[in-house]
Amino acid sequence: MRRWSELAERVAATTRTSEKTSLLADYLRTLDADELPIAVVFLTGRPFPEADQRATGIGWATIAIALERVAGTDRAALGAAYDRFSDISAAVGDVLEMAGHAPNPAVSPSLFEVAATFAAIEAASGPARKADLLADLLARADPKTARGIVRILSGELRIGLREGLVEAALAKAYDRPLDAVKRAGMLTGDIGQTATLAREGRLDGAALALFHPLKFMLASPAEDATEIITRLGPVVWVEDKYDGIRCQLHREGSTVRLYSRDLHDISSQFPEVVTAARDLPWAGILDGEILAWRDGTVLPFIALQSRLGRKDPSAAILADVPVIFVAWDVLGLDAAARDGVVAPTLELPLTERRRLLEGLGLPLAEDGGGFALSHLSEAGSTDALEAAFAEARARRNEGLMVKDPTSIYSPGRRGYGWLKMKKALATIDCVVVGVEVGHGKRHGVLSDYTFAVRDEARDQLVTIGKAYSGLTDAEIATMTRWFEEHTISQHGRYRVVEPTVVVEVAFDVILRSNRHKSGFALRFPRIARLRLDKDAREADTLETVTRLFEGLQAGAEHLVTAGARKSSTAGG
Ligand code: AMP
Repeated sequence: MRRWSELAERVAATTRTSEKTSLLADYLRTLDADELPIAVVFLTGRPFPEADQRATGIGWATIAIALERVAGTDRAALGAAYDRFSDISAAVGDVLEMAGHAPNPAVSPSLFEVAATFAAIEAASGPARKADLLADLLARADPKTARGIVRILSGELRIGLREGLVEAALAKAYDRPLDAVKRAGMLTGDIGQTATLAREGRLDGAALALFHPLKFMLASPAEDATEIITRLGPVVWVEDKYDGIRCQLHREGSTVRLYSRDLHDISSQFPEVVTAARDLPWAGILDGEILAWRDGTVLPFIALQSRLGRKDPSAAILADVPVIFVAWDVLGLDAAARDGVVAPTLELPLTERRRLLEGLGLPLAEDGGGFALSHLSEAGSTDALEAAFAEARARRNEGLMVKDPTSIYSPGRRGYGWLKMKKALATIDCVVVGVEVGHGKRHGVLSDYTFAVRDEARDQLVTIGKAYSGLTDAEIATMTRWFEEHTISQHGRYRVVEPTVVVEVAFDVILRSNRHKSGFALRFPRIARLRLDKDAREADTLETVTRLFEGLQAGAEHLVTAGARKSSTAGG
């Protein structure tokens, strides 16, 4: 583990991509077959593979308790160190160093031992037991190794690594074509398994496995119809943007599984979809959305909310809030079952995938079945797009999802193949980094949020604004408790909190400003909703904000020019 931690620090110390790749490749080559998948999963900043359902359940508070035991310091010492570094792993390393923590190198934990401890922490119930296990591990780790361990546990690697770079390093380490590594990564959805296939020269053997969820393709926000047509045109595909919950459906024979956006198995929450998908004459994987639906109309998201997280729902709830699966994509398909694998279709253009989807004979809701196909049309101009937007809103949907008909399905990527058009203006997904108690009726609760976007180039969160919460009183109360438990340090009214909660922020205009670290500020920001379905990695980036800012600037200039023209006409 010490070598992994050293590598992480060396990778962090250079901003040059080629150097990062070389450092990684050299390191990967030294690993044996069993160590390799553990090390690469850790390099993606996760204790377990991404599609693994497990989570350690360790937060700041547990790390602080473990550290108190090992270094004999109090919680305030860690808070003070965090304020200096804004980085939990650096803070832990610093506290250990200051405390003179220097265990015998002979007991330094191996990668296997760290992986086994993460598994034990996950299985342990209660923060006290989890803290014990972590304390035992940290007690054997020198400050540098401890920094590495906490980097992974906190999910904040901060070494400027994206999965693409790990893939490039695997290609380089084992002298394999990068495309083959990327393809295996896409199909297996598991970087550890991909690493093993690359090492053994078996990348061609990567298969699309049923009942292992793939990462979902993501969409980028777009600020207006002009930008969408410019990026994806001349002709784009336009689908309604449904306001339900994203779902990936896998089926083979009578086995059906549903996976949520964070890759959890949610089959037991939606038994009617499982039943509807049973006994169809093909095996495959669909992408779509679960939607509350009655008599041909979409019910508001709030209705669906009453079904979320409820396993084995009662007959009364099933009758109260019926749901259907709206399908828009097919990622793998076979006419007959082949023991858990299917032929991938995700590399086909969208036009082809839609043709396959429409040929599946899904039992449609309008005929009493549990499915619908996403509403699809074509647009070749900004006017057509605006009209489609209005129609989608009239059908009570959130807006539009605009897709490039030639695009392939890219799991886990937030590219420009899909653009979302929601409101008159875009919203951005931000991470809450600080909270304060509110004023007036909200004086007892933490209702003012400071939030940030991701600066990918510098691999850090940069603040962009502060807003009073637009959440419901119940949500504010729940979040207040959460933020109290996940406070890192407190400065008067202001609490620095664990940067993991994502909120969708609406605003009027983006401005350049030195007030926030991002170099931007939002005018009239408001918290549109909590996005507990997203993790901090999915927050929008500084690059997106810059793009939206530039787009809005161009739009503003257009208005100014139009205004100037008008006044000159009036004057003439
Ligand atoms: P957002 O959650 O705001 O980032 O928007 C992306 C989400 O829109 C996806 O994860 C889907 O859950 C949802 N969505 C709704 N309709 C569609 C559609 N027709 N195609 C793709 N995604 C859609």
